Order: sequence, then structure tokens, then C-alpha cells
Amino acid sequence: MTQKSTGAQIRQTYIDFFTEHGHTIVPSMSLVPGEDATLLFTNAGMVQFKDVFLGTDKRAYKRAANSQKCMRVAGKHNDLDDVGRDDTHHTFFEMLGNWSFGDYYKKEAIEWAWQLLTDVWGLPKERLWSTCFKDDKGDIPADEEAAMYWRKQPGMNPDHILFFGRKDNFWEMAETGPCGPCSEIHFDRGEEYCNLKGQPHTCSVNGDCTRYLELWNLVFIQYNRLGPDKLEPLPATHVDTGMGFERIVSVLQGVDSNYKTDLFAPMLETLRSLTGHSIEQVYADFTPYRVIADHARAASFLIADGVVPGNTGRNYICRMIIRRAARFGSKLGLHEPFLSKVAEAVIETYGDFYTELRKHRQAILDNLRREEVRFARTVESGTAVLDGYLAELRKSGKRMLSGEKAFDLYATYGLPFEITRDIAREQNLEVDEAGFRSAMDEHRLASGAGQAMGAMGGEDAEQFSNLLKELQQQCKLGDTGVRNNPYDRLETEGSVLALYTAGQFVQEAYPDDEVEIILPETGFYIESGGQVSDTGMILAKTDENGNIPWGIQVTGMRKPSAGMIAHVGTVSFGTPQVGDPAIASVNAERRHDIMRNHTATHLLHAALHKVLGEMARQAGSLVAPDRLRFDFTHPEAMTAEEIEQVEKIVNDAIAADMPVTPVSKSREQAIAEGAMALFGEKYGETVRTITILESDGSPSAGRYSYELCGGTHLERTSDVGVFIITSEGSAAAGVRRIEAVTGRGAHELIARRFKALKQAASLLSTTPEAVPQKVETLQDEMTETRKQVASLRIQLAAASFDSRLESVEAIAGISLLRMELPGADKDTLGKLADQFREKYPQNGICVIAAPSEGNIVVMAAVTQDLIKKGIKAGDLVGHISRQLGAGGGGAPHLAFGGGKDVSKLNEALDSVTDWVEGKLN
Ligand SMILES: [Zn+2]
Ligand SMILES: [Zn+2]
Repeated sequence: MTQKSTGAQIRQTYIDFFTEHGHTIVPSMSLVPGEDATLLFTNAGMVQFKDVFLGTDKRAYKRAANSQKCMRVAGKHNDLDDVGRDDTHHTFFEMLGNWSFGDYYKKEAIEWAWQLLTDVWGLPKERLWSTCFKDDKGDIPADEEAAMYWRKQPGMNPDHILFFGRKDNFWEMAETGPCGPCSEIHFDRGEEYCNLKGQPHTCSVNGDCTRYLELWNLVFIQYNRLGPDKLEPLPATHVDTGMGFERIVSVLQGVDSNYKTDLFAPMLETLRSLTGHSIEQVYADFTPYRVIADHARAASFLIADGVVPGNTGRNYICRMIIRRAARFGSKLGLHEPFLSKVAEAVIETYGDFYTELRKHRQAILDNLRREEVRFARTVESGTAVLDGYLAELRKSGKRMLSGEKAFDLYATYGLPFEITRDIAREQNLEVDEAGFRSAMDEHRLASGAGQAMGAMGGEDAEQFSNLLKELQQQCKLGDTGVRNNPYDRLETEGSVLALYTAGQFVQEAYPDDEVEIILPETGFYIESGGQVSDTGMILAKTDENGNIPWGIQVTGMRKPSAGMIAHVGTVSFGTPQVGDPAIASVNAERRHDIMRNHTATHLLHAALHKVLGEMARQAGSLVAPDRLRFDFTHPEAMTAEEIEQVEKIVNDAIAADMPVTPVSKSREQAIAEGAMALFGEKYGETVRTITILESDGSPSAGRYSYELCGGTHLERTSDVGVFIITSEGSAAAGVRRIEAVTGRGAHELIARRFKALKQAASLLSTTPEAVPQKVETLQDEMTETRKQVASLRIQLAAASFDSRLESVEAIAGISLLRMELPGADKDTLGKLADQFREKYPQNGICVIAAPSEGNIVVMAAVTQDLIKKGIKAGDLVGHISRQLGAGGGGAPHLAFGGGKDVSKLNEALDSVTDWVEGKLN
């Protein structure tokens, strides 16, 4: 490459190069890694191929390449601390990768890497270095094979091939499983890039300074780790490579910061036009610019993948980075919402390759603006409170702000922990992160919301995966483990393969034992895509005497590890043993209820699109036997008319008796045909689609609904029976939630409501139809009565006031009336002030406090002549209200205030004497 390429061109040459070498280009998976419960976000290119390496998933291709969207902002891979401080770290980034699944190996991987870097991209060969594996513990053979291939590359300096140990050059997915040596390619940027010049340090590959950059990591998967010291060779070897996209672009564009590449230029330019800084000023104070550009890009990609700002898990991260960016914006003097403008530049830069950005453009801009506005409302009071905390801390000589205080700041003022920490660090103080997490968890448990970022993935996964291997060796299970087909048969037969109870595998179990039971195949549905697991019974086959020896009540299903499916339940009778022949039956009635709700969910989704538009995207769902719940993105509450309209459309679709058809096809085809896919779901190469056709089978019939879905469905829509929406509310910021019932659940609801209506009618001595009319009449009567009560209250107050008017105190020649009048409202107090003034047109002060239900209203009135002497009603009310824990004020002749602390009321009224005397002297 002679002339500088754009980032987009560099990405494309990578993809083209590997296409030419027989690779299938697999689109980036969502940032939400779907079924992989061990990850908060997709954090590497290999995430979507993990099951292929583990041998539990097969693909139609043996070579793949892509550019994968990644986030590293929470958990083990957390780069947030460095983002903004330096030029190379990001929360969101792209990872270029190529893979071989049992196909090519070291020779090709190394050859192609060299060709791409030197021939295609034209990097100077004398500046490239490679590293290979040599075990520092001496147990695993050195990777001489890789070193040999590096030596064969044209122009490779053999002195530039180095060996390193496990930390740098051995890759493992987990404590057990596929692993192998890796080989890295480093680029020497030249002495001028060394940031430690003149200081003693290791200035070399894998050294201490910034001179050498690791460009590309080639992982050769050739072993299976069985234990800490035990490796066995894999029958097939794989390649897994990863190259940080932003980094290679910075090298090819010859700039000293990822943020100076054209990938960030439009964002920084937008920001600069907002702040009015010169380029020099930007570089002089680069940190806020880097943080905002990084976070705005990450938030845009997150929202495009359906992650909106919220309080837990992924949503919290989205909220946190938006708020952090907003705070750095205010450091640059940006006080109005500005992030959506930066996001426009993100969409412009990345939208051609990542089309989801353009598709969800409005959602991205709206969510950013809303979140900034929300934050702006509280941030100032929040930082003021934090500054107070930090001042206290310094005074007490401590350095660590407690986690509880940090959580309080988040719960009350919306200051995410990370921002509190940023501010504390700017003053050389720290915040207790563990304390914050536990305060948050406590709060969450108390509010019943479950764990947000806690440990995920079972502890027993290893036990089950070892068992799987054993059963496969004994040929009791095939390649893919336990077979699962929840669609065709509710009943399956097979011998008990394993029983698991109280954390271990057992040969037999006893009545009331809680067990997990593994069979070679099952028709039970396992919770996924929002649909809950099936329940049912597993019974031993009848013996020669015609008895059923044992039975297990199945209450749930679980996938303890890849390839394993466990029925979770309790032994109801007998002694089940491993090897016993058994029959597993799904609770058919419950399953039928679930299917009604699932098919209705698809109809609801389609109806929402008709009424609210395509922007109403599914954000989560629950399909249970007794109800369904559907979350979707929509900025505001639905109107009563919209809800009614949606309900009617769904019921019309039910009455139309439309056929519901499942078809399996390739994912590409389904997506190309417009099937709705959900973010956060992991789809294989072959997907199951559910089509609801508008009329019977004719080829011209339109699709009413078309979704990728692994759930179980009715054959015809009419089987849903009735669909009733029971609630519409907010699930999170920008996300609405509809709950509904169908079939038997709907009938129960109708019966219950109808009964209540009949009761109401009988209490009102009228017919059900006339109930609303009757209630309205009653309400009118109530309003009238309330008015009468209010006027009586004023009359009573006025009457007692008359007598009090006679007995005023005299202080320095002033007539002072002070009293409590419980329950009086502002109107009444105003009228009493007039009455007072009539009686004492001069030299008079009237103070009345009206306590009621933990709240106090205070009124003060002052005659005109006293105002000239400096006695003002507004000041007096302020003086009293401050003692009651609040404030108040108003005009010099009449003012209102109040407070909450009733216990201070007497004292506050007493203090009026001193206050008045003070003013006169
Ligand atoms: Zn150096
Ligand atoms: Zn579905």
C-alpha cells in the first residue's frame, strides 16, 4: 500500500484476503452473547465458535473469518481504568480473526499472516518480529514447528524469532478443555516511540515500553487439558487468530494514537466543533476527548444491539458509560446534551459495515439524549454531596470512601460508581469497590431483582462434562450428547444414564431425594427464548408383575454443561437406579397452555409493529403456562386506545384461524427473507423459523408473522382462544412491558372479573351494565360532601380565631399573635391573615403554624408600618422554617413556608419573640 488506506478499506482488505483463501465470512455476533451465560459481553472473536472447539457444535464450513464487535468493560477483562488515560485502550473495539476448524494449521496460518502484513499491507519486513512458545516449566514441548515456518517466510530475519513461556505464548480457554501454543507478531515502531527513553528498561518485544506493538496473535489449538498437569493431543487441530483492528489501523496510518486514526476523526471533529477548541488544544487535554469518543462509540453499538441504559447488568454498563462521557463533556464546557451528535459521527463512520447502527439510528440518538437529560437533573446535587463526603474524609485523615456512601450516591443521584471513583481519584482518594458491589447486591436482593453481575455458569459443569466424555466412550451418548426434541414427541423411552443428588453422582436414589436425572433423549423443552422449561413425570417401565417400580416428579430442566441435559425433580416413590429403563412424559396440559402463550406472543409482537411501528423491538419475553410477558423498546407509555387496538388485532388474528408453521432453513436465507431475529439470541447455521400465514396455504398468502424461534407452538392461531392484556408498564428506561393471558388463563380472569362486577352491582343495587353510571353519581356526591367539610373547617377555624384575636401578646408595643391551627390549609391561613389585619391595622404580627400528617405549613403576616422598621414576613417565615428542616419565604407583608419536623415547632414559635426584638434593636 503506497498511499494511506482508510480504516474501512483496511477491514475490507482483511476480509477479501481471507475470502480469497477459501474462508467463509461469518458476520459479527451481537455484543450480547446470548446463551453463553458466563459472559456479560462478547469479548473476543472466538466466542461464537467456542462450541465448535468444544466439539458440541458443527458448522458447514471449515474456514471462517470476520471482524467481531467486542466489549471489555466488566469482569476479568476490564479495560475501563485505562480508557482515556492512554492511546490504545477501548471499552468497545473490533477484533479481526481467521479460524480453521480441523482444516489448515501452522504452515498456512503463518504464511498468510506474513503475506497480508508484508505484501498486501506493505509493512517493512525488518520491523516485524515473531514469538513462539517454549515452556518455562519444561513440561510441554517447544513449538519448533511454528518457528520453522517463520524462518521460511521471505525476508524474515531469523534473529527476529523469539521464544517465550506460558504467560505470553500459551493459550487456554478454561482450566480444562482445548488449549495450545500461540505465536505473536510484533511491530517495532522505532526508537522514537519508546516512552522510557533514557531510563533503564527492557526495550524489546514483550518489554516495558511502548516501542513494540503486538499486532496479531495466532493460536494453535492442539491439546485438550484434562487437569493441571495433564494434556492429551486433540484428534483434530484448530487455528484461532485475533488482531486488534484499531491498532493495525494506527500502524498502517502511521499515527501515534488509535484515537488519531480516521476511525475516530469524525467523532473528535464533531466534539471539537462543539467546544470550539483548536487541534492543539485538543491534543493538549486529550483525555476527555478520548473518553467521550470511546464511550459514545461503545454506547451506540450497545444500543444498536438492544442494550439500553438501566440499573442492572449490561444495562448498568450502558448507563455508566453514557453518564461518564457526559461528565467528561461538562469538563470540556458542554452542558447541553451532546452525545447524540457524536453518535451521528459513529453511525456515519461504521454504519456501512455494521448496518444495525443505521437500522437503529433513532433508538441510539433517543436513548443517548434521554439518558443525558436524566443525568443532568441530578448530577450537580450528586457531585456537591460527594464533594462534602470527600472533604469530611480528608479532614478525618482517611483515604477510602465507603461503598455504602458510593451506592447511596448512585441510588439517590444516579452517580455510577465509576464516576464517583473518577472524582475521588482526581483528589487522590479512593472508593471501596467491593463495598459498593455488596451494597448494590443487598439492595437488589431486597428489591427482589436477583443478581446482576454475579457468578454465572454452574460450579458442577466440569463434573457433567467429564461424565459426558465417559458416556460417549461407552457409546451410550453420541457426538452431540443428550438428544432433545421437544417438538414431535411428549414421551420418550430410554435407560437412566446418571443420577445426581447433593452434588454427586449416585447409583440409586430414594423417595423425597432431590435428583437430577440424565436420559439418552428427552422431549422436555429447556428454558430458552423466554419459554419456560416443561415439567412432567419420569416413570420406570412396568415390571413383569405389571407394577411401576419408581417415579420421579420433574419440576424443571437444566443444561449443566455443553451436551448434557438434566431433568430436575424429586423422587415420588420407589428407588430409581442407573440403568433402569424409563419413560419420560411431559405434562401435556401445561405444555399446551405454554404453546398458547407462545403463539400469542408472536401475534402480539406483530400487532405492536402494526400499532406502534417497527421501532417497538422485542427486548425480552417470558412465556409461562399461566401468562406471557413481553418487553419492547418504546419511549413512552402506550395510550389506552393503543392497548385496546393491540388487543383487538391479536384477537382478530386468533379468530382468523391462521396456520402456524415451523420450518428449518439456513440462517442467511431466513434473515434475507426478513425473519425477525432477536438480539441476545445465539443462532446456529440452521435456524428454526415460525411462520404465521394470513390465509390457508395459497402461495400468495401474506406472512402475518415470521420469526426465528426455537419455541413450541400451536398448529393454528384459533387454539389460543382469547387474548387479554392485563397490564402495560415500564420495565426499564425506554422499555415497556406488556403482560397478558390466553386460553384457560384468560377464561379464569374473565370469570373472576365478572364475579367481582356482579358483586359490585349487587352492593350498589343495580345491574352490571349500570355500575359505571352509579359509581359516577356516588363520586359526585362525595365531591360535594368534601367541599362542605372544607368550608365547615374554615368556619370552625375562623370561630376559634376570633376568640384568639382578643388575646394577643404585646412585645415592645407590637401586637403579636402566634398560634397552632392543626389541619388549616393555605387558603384558610390567608383569610385569617386578612382578619388579623382588620383587627390590628398597625403594629401587628401574626404567625400561624398548621401541622398535619407529618407536614407543617407556616404563615406570617406583618402590617405595613412594621415592614419599614425591617420586620418582613418573608424573613420571619424563613427563620421559622429553617428550624423545621426546610425553607420558605415570600412578600414582606405575607409569606408562607413549612417543614417536616413537628418536634421543633414549639421551640420555633417561641423563637419569634427574640427575632422580633432583635430586629427592633
Ligand atoms: Zn523502550
Ligand atoms: Zn418465539
